[in-house]
Amino acid sequence: MPLTAASPLTELKGVGPVRARRLAAAGYRSVGSLLRHLPLRYEDRRRLSRVADVAGEGAHTLRGRVLDTRAVRVWRRGLSLVRGTLDDGSGRLPVVWFNRPYLAGQLDPESTYLLHGPVRRRGERLELVNPSCEAAEGAVHAAAVVPVYPAIGELGPAFLRRLFDALLEGFDPRRELADPLPEELRRRYDLPPLGEAVAALHRPGERADGEALNRRATAAHHRLVYGELLEMQLELGLRRRRVGERPKPHRYRLDAGVRRRLAGLAPFRLTGAQERVIGEILADLESPRPMRRLLQGDVGCGKTIVAATAMVAAAESGLQAALMAPTEILAEQHRRTLGALLGDRYRIGLVTAGAPGAAADRERLASGELDLVVGTHALVQEAVRFGRQGLAIVDEQHRFGVAQRQALTGKGEHTDLLVMTATPIPRSLALTLYGDLDVSLLDEMPPGRSPVRTEVRPVARREETYDWLEGRLAQGGRAYVVLPLIEESDAVEAASIERHGAELAERLSAFEPRIVHGRTPAEERARSLEEFAAGRSRVLIATTVIEVGLDVPAASLLVIENAERFGLAQLHQLRGRVGRGGGEPAHCVALHGELGEEGRRRLEVFAASRDGFEIAEADLELRGPGDLLGTRQAGLPALFLADLAAHRRWVERAHADARELLERRRDPAAAAVIERARRRAGRRSPEEGEARCVSC
Ligand code: ADP
Ligand code: MG
Repeated sequence: MPLTAASPLTELKGVGPVRARRLAAAGYRSVGSLLRHLPLRYEDRRRLSRVADVAGEGAHTLRGRVLDTRAVRVWRRGLSLVRGTLDDGSGRLPVVWFNRPYLAGQLDPESTYLLHGPVRRRGERLELVNPSCEAAEGAVHAAAVVPVYPAIGELGPAFLRRLFDALLEGFDPRRELADPLPEELRRRYDLPPLGEAVAALHRPGERADGEALNRRATAAHHRLVYGELLEMQLELGLRRRRVGERPKPHRYRLDAGVRRRLAGLAPFRLTGAQERVIGEILADLESPRPMRRLLQGDVGCGKTIVAATAMVAAAESGLQAALMAPTEILAEQHRRTLGALLGDRYRIGLVTAGAPGAAADRERLASGELDLVVGTHALVQEAVRFGRQGLAIVDEQHRFGVAQRQALTGKGEHTDLLVMTATPIPRSLALTLYGDLDVSLLDEMPPGRSPVRTEVRPVARREETYDWLEGRLAQGGRAYVVLPLIEESDAVEAASIERHGAELAERLSAFEPRIVHGRTPAEERARSLEEFAAGRSRVLIATTVIEVGLDVPAASLLVIENAERFGLAQLHQLRGRVGRGGGEPAHCVALHGELGEEGRRRLEVFAASRDGFEIAEADLELRGPGDLLGTRQAGLPALFLADLAAHRRWVERAHADARELLERRRDPAAAAVIERARRRAGRRSPEEGEARCVSC
């Protein structure tokens, strides 16, 4: 009987009621849905090796009997070993499996098996490690590029391969699967239709490029990757529209007088980029829709004045504006900067855990008495109420969770939102994380900046480095020294404030060093920073509390200890503390202890590149998107085949195309894809969708 997409899985050979229930538990009930369970990896079994010819490490496919299989006791919890010996007539090779105890009783010494896996060297001899293993007789695709499916419960790859064979025997996706993607988009990128792509991924065939398959770089992969990303971007676009549908209740009054005031705010001449971005923001504020904007700009490009201008626009319109920063130090600095810029025309409050007036300011905020408020995440706590909030700004947004961002806007109905970030996130990530925001880019540095000279040195050159630093300080320089730890630790070998910081303070005592870290009492910290900013102290010894935002233009020297312990983006942020327009060229020395391969690459990139976006791309490459992504946190579909680093060009395309589709949503082809994305978004529960292909 021919299968259709709607056929129940029990019609497949090998699927009885028990297995059907297992498959159903994973969300697979019909032939059509099971097809979405795509392989994540492939084994190239086209070349059968002979044991006698296996001379070194590498992946091999071998065929033979497996003798002497036995479970081996291991005294480590959570680990079990099975050992055996492969004999293919040409020679013998030891085999070891981890955590597959059942194999010991299953392998029949009289039968022939097909094994595929890496050969590794262990001491003198070679060993086949954790190979896949199936009976040669029933093995499908013995001489092919073989798909490896993610297990479904206890149903492993070998069973799933047989299952898909049975399925594809009776069902041809190329004929039976309709492609929901508008033809025009498929043509634009020369992508195969969905059915063809799905068929090619399940059965790559004899001439497939195994390497491209594993990089997910085949045309078939691109079709599915593009589909996933397009769906995600449509969903983000729909969210953005939802915000725009309801007009905001408050109005900004930006008449000529106010505009003159705004234009005269900065004590310096704005860069062209600053002018442009301020224009974009003011247009958003005047629009009846709430603003949802991301301001991206590398460290030191001058985001603060942009924020201040927007805040004054709110205050002049009789609305409250809030600025939230990730650290108390930064919030305090913003408070001072605003005070210096705006004088006492506005009432400005400070709400942080440590601020002495926080409780009073909270009340003045709720009563509407304050015009502007600066704070940390203390601003989003339950108890904080805004009397007449119009604008919320989040500085260094990447340091906050999505939840906190939402909580801040939740304080006022239809609040205008500006999020700022200096951590240049690669564009592919920005489009995903912030795809529901409009993006402004500050891509121009204020004049007179010279690039920070960066040197990476092994810790053996520490003495020499501090001799040099002393010399520069003696000539009037101002320096930060950054250490990774507060306390000495037995577990980690790295410089601490407690020991090394104290020694340094001693050595540099002529320059009135100050020490600041996460546990320094708020008042002492504020005083130290002020003294450093004013030049009474010339050295600030600190942990990464100074990582973001701190602005002391006269500081031009930076020493980072144990630089190998910091991420690339973090190093770039730290370096952003110097070279902020103090005149003399800035200088950064990164001292490092022992380096792994990745650490070495990281520091190389750091020394070689000044460009935040370049650094972010390299970081993504080195680390993978990992935590940076947080899409699940944002309630977005988990990506299955798509990889934001490897497929970044597709992210860009999907982003642009989703916008275009949403623009012309009356067109039936566009309406159909949008509707699909909307339905899927509505159906998704938080746990769902992790291991399942989102196939659009
Ligand atoms: P970031 O974008 O990292 O937040 P800031 O807003 O702290 O940067 O600005 C960095 C420094 O540059 C500050 O000292 C600020 O006063 C100064 N600055 C900003 N814009 C200009 C400009 N157009 N001309 C001169 N200096 C500027
Ligand atoms: Mg800043």
